[in-house]
Amino acid sequence: MALRASVPDEVDVVIVGAGITGASCFWHLASAGRGLRVACFEMHHKLHGSTARSAAAFRHQFAAEVHIHMSLASGRFYRSFPERFGGEPVLRENGYAFVYTGAEAFAQACARAERQRALGVPELEVWTGAAAVRERLPMVEHPALAGATFCRHDGFLLPDVITHTLFEHGLRVGGCLRQWAPVREIVRAGGRVWGVRVACEDGEREVRAPVVINAAGPWANAVSQLAGVQIPLTPVKRYLYFTTQIPGRQVRHFPLLVFDLEPYCRPEADALMCGWDRRPPKPPGWDRFPPPAVEAQALDSDSIEPGYGLGIEEYGYEVLAALAEYMPWLAEQAGLEHATAGYYEVTPDDKAIIDWDPRLPGLLHATGFSGHGVMHAPATGMMVRALVLDEPPPFDPAALALAPLLENRPRPDPETVII
Ligand SMILES: Cc1cc2nc3c(=O)[nH]c(=O)nc-3n(C[C@H](O)[C@H](O)[C@H](O)COP(=O)(O)OP(=O)(O)OC[C@H]3O[C@@H](n4cnc5c(N)ncnc54)[C@H](O)[C@@H]3O)c2cc1C
Repeated sequence: MALRASVPDEVDVVIVGAGITGASCFWHLASAGRGLRVACFEMHHKLHGSTARSAAAFRHQFAAEVHIHMSLASGRFYRSFPERFGGEPVLRENGYAFVYTGAEAFAQACARAERQRALGVPELEVWTGAAAVRERLPMVEHPALAGATFCRHDGFLLPDVITHTLFEHGLRVGGCLRQWAPVREIVRAGGRVWGVRVACEDGEREVRAPVVINAAGPWANAVSQLAGVQIPLTPVKRYLYFTTQIPGRQVRHFPLLVFDLEPYCRPEADALMCGWDRRPPKPPGWDRFPPPAVEAQALDSDSIEPGYGLGIEEYGYEVLAALAEYMPWLAEQAGLEHATAGYYEVTPDDKAIIDWDPRLPGLLHATGFSGHGVMHAPATGMMVRALVLDEPPPFDPAALALAPLLENRPRPDPETVII
């Protein structure tokens, strides 16, 4: 009986998934002051998905205006974290440098920097020519540097601390979080969402909720299918590699460094975390609706597939070698110590879907972040709260809309800075 009582029969909003997106929606809705009854169901434990596997970088330096606005709002939220919730800062503002060797790519970056400044990105710097880059980034030793852009208010986040804290504070204001409780069906009635059927320790239960939020990350298309619809979202495996400790280089003070929009690294204590969006390639059809069929059960975030391990012939050393073209001392001073993996939840234009589903009233998607869901989680919570409470949206809804993607039409405000 006690177990049955632990799952409510009826709430105002159900959130599916307890990663950082679910946590942010949970807190933003539960603390909205409207007395909303909010329940979040998670099929494993919180942080089982991509959130804890992320590079957790934070940047304002985007091409799409909607992303710049989302970063500005999220940055303010993350900087206010200690004051709002107590504890340590969750954003380490080491900065983020985009370094270019090609003149044309650098010119495009300069144009983007103008737009970013015009939209209010603070202290954005443009360093033109090799000498200017070397002066600020002495660790970079490439012979042909065209320039770099740098924002000191970019950096990296603590996604696990953020997720735990937002759930904790959402619970304090009456929210309900159930882990090991997979949603098995999004129940429809009268042409709209009725609620969910969820499995818990004492069997399956139906929970009435007029609003269901799909915050299931790489599983979000599978969760959509629990309601009988699909969304254009494909899980794509991504790997991170961690170097051995690098003494004497002060790497813990490095900014996040991205070279020619390809390989990147950032400090992880006295080592470097390295990544590259090159492999494995996105599967055929990832950029069309409907997306390629993926068996949800087959998603295995933990496995390191053959070719992606730490062997000298494997992808990790390819990433390290690519970084060593810009920082040749790496070849001498760093090996690889371990690898982690997770899935990007990718949409056809690498922008999130934060929108009601036009085919099923009551179903709201908050997913498809394509590599920036950690940094934009606060903005996502703000947008979701506005949609649920029918308030003016804080970000351009057209740029995040679902309907055009269902018809394979482009959305406004494209993103080109995809890492
Ligand atoms: C290698 C890598 C590097 C990245 N780097 C960055 C970065 O630098 N910056 C950045 O901002 N982002 C980055 N990302 C992306 C970021 O991690 C994701 O966009 C973000 O974590 C998505 O969070 P989420 O809460 O939406 O999804 P998730 O964290 O995946 O959470 C979804 C949850 O839904 C649950 N779930 C699924 N199905 C069900 C169901 N039926 N019932 C109940 N629960 C269910 C899952 O168990 C999971 O816990 C990176 C990702 C990877 C893999």
